[in-house]
Amino acid sequence: MEKIILDGNIVAQEIRDSMKEIIDFLRSIGVIPCLATVLVGDNPASETYVKMKGNACKRLNMKSIRVQLSKETETAELIETIKELNNDNSVHGILLQHPVPSHIDERAAFEAIDIRKDVDGVTSAGYGQTAFGFGDFPSCTPAAIMKILEYYQIPIDGMHAVVVGRSPILGKPVSALLLNANATVTTCHSRTSNLPDILKQADIVVAAVGKPKFIQGSWLKQGSIVIDAGYNKGNVGDVDYDSCFEVAGAITPVPGGIGPITIATLLKHTVKAAEGMNI
Ligand code: NAP
Repeated sequence: MEKIILDGNIVAQEIRDSMKEIIDFLRSIGVIPCLATVLVGDNPASETYVKMKGNACKRLNMKSIRVQLSKETETAELIETIKELNNDNSVHGILLQHPVPSHIDERAAFEAIDIRKDVDGVTSAGYGQTAFGFGDFPSCTPAAIMKILEYYQIPIDGMHAVVVGRSPILGKPVSALLLNANATVTTCHSRTSNLPDILKQADIVVAAVGKPKFIQGSWLKQGSIVIDAGYNKGNVGDVDYDSCFEVAGAITPVPGGIGPITIATLLKHTVKAAEGMNI
């Protein structure tokens, strides 16, 4: 079987193309879809992500607002800022860039986001809706993973999917989405024993570990589908690409895999939120 490199840029372009008509329509009725990003502190990686999201909005004729708060910001002040954005009718999506400084109660801040503007599925209500299989805005990276599998017509029903990572924004929601799509799902984490043995049984592997080049080709079953959601310093994923490429039936590269689809999905959710609030 021919090995497939799963190209995220093509999928992201298709998502962006599908949004143009509705953005034009919303603008014609005086609504400019607007994403507000909230960045606390000066983490350089977060700065880059926020800038990328703002630029992506501009390219699609959407608006973005960037709220920058100092690293000394307290939880109450951050929540107040989020509430102001909730009450601002010109803002349709709110993204609080993770991670926030450790003295802040990040969960409390996420929970302050109005569910109608929770375009990255970070509230407990948004996560619950994803897990139950309804709701408009699953977390963007999990949704991007499902989208690339759909685009390349990779069967999920009845397959064994192994997700490595259980974070609230990635590992857990993607496990729920795969389960809803009738995969048999195993979710692994830092306390999992015998990870390579579990991965040997996987038809689909999702790497969401936050450790560069962590997943090794020798751990995989021949022909498995490898989705690398990781993004680490130096543009490397959580998968050891060279060794996994040899064994995989299909694999996402980093960069150019899940990352661009995640951003396109965030914009799509923002446009959908603007539609929901105005049409
Ligand atoms: P995170 O919150 O740090 O979670 C990492 C997960 O990996 C945890 O559940 C942890 O287990 C698990 N883990 C750590 N070491 C492990 C080990 N040795 N064996 C098995 N599991 C292990 O990270 P995250 O926010 O989910 O992000 C994960 C990756 O995705 C990062 O590379 C991040 O940059 C990337 N990411 C990419 C995008 C994108 O747009 N492409 C978006 C978001 C995140 P415990 O729960 O037991 O600690």
